[in-house]
Amino acid sequence: MAKIAFIGLGNMGGPMAANLAKAQHHVTAFDLSDAAVKTAVEKGAHKAASAAEAVKGAEIVVTMLPAGKHVREVYEKDVLPNVAKGTLLIDCSTIDVDSARHVAALADKAGMEMIDAPVSGGVGGATAGTLTFMVGGDDGAFGKARPILEKMGKNIVHAGASGNGQAAKICNNMILGISMIAVSEGFMLAKRLGLDAQKLFDVASTSSGSCWSLVNYCPVPGPVPASPANRDYQAGFTAAMMLKDLMLAQQAANAAGASTPLGAEAAQLFNLFVNSGNAAKDFSGIIRMLDGK
Ligand code: NAD
Repeated sequence: MAKIAFIGLGNMGGPMAANLAKAQHHVTAFDLSDAAVKTAVEKGAHKAASAAEAVKGAEIVVTMLPAGKHVREVYEKDVLPNVAKGTLLIDCSTIDVDSARHVAALADKAGMEMIDAPVSGGVGGATAGTLTFMVGGDDGAFGKARPILEKMGKNIVHAGASGNGQAAKICNNMILGISMIAVSEGFMLAKRLGLDAQKLFDVASTSSGSCWSLVNYCPVPGPVPASPANRDYQAGFTAAMMLKDLMLAQQAANAAGASTPLGAEAAQLFNLFVNSGNAAKDFSGIIRMLDGK
């Protein structure tokens, strides 16, 4: 079994590290939060006093950090100066494409293989080991990473060269942000027209308006019992995270010269929602703002 260093043991990284330990890998874990490290140790990981200590002697390093600046910092200060040549580096954080390609280039220069492997599936998927991984990197690194990723996820997609995992992730989440607003507008219009939400669901879920935001994550209470709408929009996937991904999509669209007018509008609406005190609410709660609440 592999010697794995795991850095970033938050909502996602914690259960992902636990699944690697459960699969009998030797996991050395570090987070700035002592409580997060303690939980990881209870789930079978070994404690490291710093990120630098965690990566020494590791064959594989997995990072699951909030944003690009954290990944750049941890790679430049802790990971790259302390890992042995040939170590496989896997960054699962959702970050901007430029940062992903920057750290991959630094890793390559230092003689390390690296992939960007952001995920979708949320905390539920991380806990159940059913995440989807979108991977950017060369074939060799992808082949080596695959058996490790399979202990944390179910669908592993090689999206192409370095940075393409992040590209796939932000394109998907831009679609998700836009479609959640579209579904919410549909239900709000239905309400004002006196059309029952369940009736709209019955029609739209089997018609051309069907999509994941409607069928799996319906933003009104009732039609989909597991959706956050049934528990006062307790996250799930927070509005702050959605805003982060929409801003990353806008940043990438501007840099690449892509026209994404609905993505831009979705970013503005989620910004308004987050700044109205809803950062920690589930992103589907945006329906309440659209309803004038
Ligand atoms: P989180 O805030 O719960 O966890 C991040 C962890 O990183 C924290 O425990 C923090 O202490 C730690 N950290 C920050 N800087 C560090 C450093 N320098 N050294 C060591 N540890 C450090 O966030 P999360 O929800 O676990 O998300 C992690 C990543 O996964 C983000 O990029 C997010 O966009 C992405 N993501 C999250 C979800 C979700 O549903 N939560 C879903 C898909 C992807």
